[in-house]
Amino acid sequence: MNIKKTILGLCCLWVATVAADAQQLRKEVFDMLDLKRPGLEQVKSACERQQWDSAAVALLDYYRHRTGVVQPDIDLNHLKISEKEQKWADDALEHTFFVHYGYQPSYNYGKDINWEYWPVQDNELRWQLHRHKWFTPMGKAYRLSGDEKYAKEWVYQYMDWIKKNPLVPVTKEEFEQGSAGEVRATNENARFAWRPLEVSNRLQDQTRQFLLFVVSPAFTPEFLTEFLVNYHRHAAFILKNYSDQGNHLLFEAQRMVYAGAFFPEFKEAKTWRESGIGILNREIKKQVYADGGQYELDPHYHLAAINIFCQALRMADANGFRSELPTEYVETIKKMIEFYANICFPDYTNPCFSDAKLGERTAEVNNYKAWLKLFPDCEWIRWYATEGREGAPLSYWSHGALASGFFTFRTGWDMGANVMVVKAGPKGEWHCQPDNGTFELWFNGRNLFPDSGSYVYAGDEEVMKLRNWFRRTKSHNTLTLDGKTLETTQSVTKLWQPEGDVQTLVTENPSYQGLKHRRTVFFVDGTYYVIVDEAVGEATGTVNLNYHLCEGTVNVDAKHNSLTTAYEGASNVKLQCFPERKGTMSEEEGWRSTAYRHRVPRTSVAFNVEKKNADPIRYITVIYPVKDTAAYPQLKAKFKNKTFDEKGVTVEVSVNGKKRLLKAEIN
Ligand code: MG
Repeated sequence: MNIKKTILGLCCLWVATVAADAQQLRKEVFDMLDLKRPGLEQVKSACERQQWDSAAVALLDYYRHRTGVVQPDIDLNHLKISEKEQKWADDALEHTFFVHYGYQPSYNYGKDINWEYWPVQDNELRWQLHRHKWFTPMGKAYRLSGDEKYAKEWVYQYMDWIKKNPLVPVTKEEFEQGSAGEVRATNENARFAWRPLEVSNRLQDQTRQFLLFVVSPAFTPEFLTEFLVNYHRHAAFILKNYSDQGNHLLFEAQRMVYAGAFFPEFKEAKTWRESGIGILNREIKKQVYADGGQYELDPHYHLAAINIFCQALRMADANGFRSELPTEYVETIKKMIEFYANICFPDYTNPCFSDAKLGERTAEVNNYKAWLKLFPDCEWIRWYATEGREGAPLSYWSHGALASGFFTFRTGWDMGANVMVVKAGPKGEWHCQPDNGTFELWFNGRNLFPDSGSYVYAGDEEVMKLRNWFRRTKSHNTLTLDGKTLETTQSVTKLWQPEGDVQTLVTENPSYQGLKHRRTVFFVDGTYYVIVDEAVGEATGTVNLNYHLCEGTVNVDAKHNSLTTAYEGASNVKLQCFPERKGTMSEEEGWRSTAYRHRVPRTSVAFNVEKKNADPIRYITVIYPVKDTAAYPQLKAKFKNKTFDEKGVTVEVSVNGKKRLLKAEIN
C-alpha cells in the first residue's frame, strides 16, 4: 500500500470536510434573482417568509431539474474523458494543478493551496492558474465514476479560491503590467486572479462545471448560494472592466453572452447578454478586415476569433436568440473561415506567424466539422471537414487577402502541393510580430521554411529575452538593416497577380528611417520561386537577407551563396542567392519553436552586404524545391534593370542553362 498517498488522501478528505463547514448561506443571492420567473415560486414564497434555508433548498431543487436552458458545449448523456483529462482530475485531488502545457509536469500548489505560488516568472503560468483548467475534467471524472471525492474536492477548491483571492481594486494598466515584465506589490494577486480574461474564462467554464456537479450531495444549498454570488460578482466585474480591444475583448463578450444565457434567473442576465452581443456585433466589424482577416494578423488568434463568434452563435441557436446576431455577422464568420483555409497547408497546419501555434490535424478537422454544422450547405467547408471525402475544395488556388496582407501561392489542396504564404500587411496588434515580408513554404508534405514561432509570451526579464529572440525581425525570412528589428511595419501591396505561369507579388515596407524594403516574389511554372529584395534609401550599414530552414541536414556552400537540404523523404530545397554587390553568406543562430517553451535548433543563414551610401542594395534569391536531391538544378540570376525602379523590376533567371525573363510591372 502506498502509505504516503493514503495519508494525503485522508488529508484531502479532512480538508474537504472543513471547507464544507466553511460555506455560508448567502441570502443576498435572493435579491440578485428574478423570483417572479416560472419555476421559482417556492423560492419566492420561502423568501417572503424569510425562511432562507428552505429558499436555498428550493432553489437547488429548481436548478437540479431545470429545463429550457441549453449549454451547447457539453452533452451530459454522452460524456467522455480523455486520459489526459483523467490525469488532470486525479492530480488535482492532490493539488497538483494542470495550468499550462509549457510547464510539465504540473506543479503542486501545497496541501493548503497557495494560489500565489509562481515557480517561474512567466505571466501565463500565474494568470492561467486562475482558469482552473482541471475543474471541468474533475466534473467529468465525477459523473463518469460517480465517485464523490471529485465533487467534494471541487467544492473545497472552489471555496478555497474565493477565500484566498478577494476582489480588490486593480487598474486596467495593472492587469497587463506583466507584459512589460514589471511586478507591482500592491494588489499583486488580484491583478492575476481577476484579470478580465481569466474572469471571463471562469464565467464560461463554470457553466459546464455547474451542470456536472449540481447533482452531487456535496453541492449543498449553502454552496449553491456561494456559487451564485461568486458567479454574479464575476459577470458584474466584466461588465465594468471589459478589455479595451483585441481578442481579449471578444473572449469576454462571448462569455458574457454565456453568463446571460445560462443563468437567465439573474435580474442582470439580460444586461449581460445584451452587452456581450452588442460588443460582438460591433467588434466583428472593427476587428475583421473585408478580406476576412482578424486585425491581430496572427493565424492562431484569427482561429480563436472565428471560434468565439461561432460559440456565441451556437449559444444563441440553442437558446432561441439567433435573431440578435444579424446575417452580416454570420457571413463574416464564413469569410474568416475562408481566409483561414487559404493560409493553411494541406496537412491543416497554419503558418506560425506572430504568436501562432502550429495546430494539430485532428483538432483542426474538428473545427471544420463544427463549422459545417453552422454552414451545412457550404461545399468547401464540407470538403475540409471530411478531409476531402465529400464536397469540393475552394474553386481557386493562389489567393491574396490584400487588406490583411496574407498572400498564398498554391498549386493545389493535396499533400503534394507547393504552397507559399507571404505575410506583408498593415501594422498588427499585440500578438503580431514585426516580420513584414516573411513567408513559409510547404512542398510535398514538408514545411521547408517554418517561422521561428513565439516560444513564450510575457514575464520577467529572462522570459522577455526569450520572447524577443523569436519575435525580432531577424528571426524571420526577410530583410534587416544591421540585424535590427523593423521600425515600421506597414506593408503596401504594389502588385498581386495570382494567375498564370508566372504569378507575382510586389510588396513594400517602410522598414527603417532611411531604408525601405521592396520584395518581389515570382512563382514560376508552379515549381520554383524567385525573390527579389531591394533595400532603398539614404541609410548606411549592413543589409542582411535572412533565411531560416526546417530542422535537419542542410549543406551550406558559402562560396556560392547557396545551400541544399538533405532531408529524408521527397521534399527538399535548393536556395541560392545572387546579391548584386559582393557580400558574405553567414550561418546564424537558428531556432524554431513548435509549441510553448519547446524549440529545436535549425540552420539559419544571412546574406550580408555593406551599404555605404544611398545606392540600393539588391538581391535575387532562387528557391527551388525538389522531390529528389539528385535533381538540384544549376541556377543563375541577374538584374536586367540597372538600378531600383519604382515601376518594377526585371530579372533573368537561368535553370540548368534555360533562361527565363521575369518582369514585375507596377501600374
Ligand atoms: Mg514569427
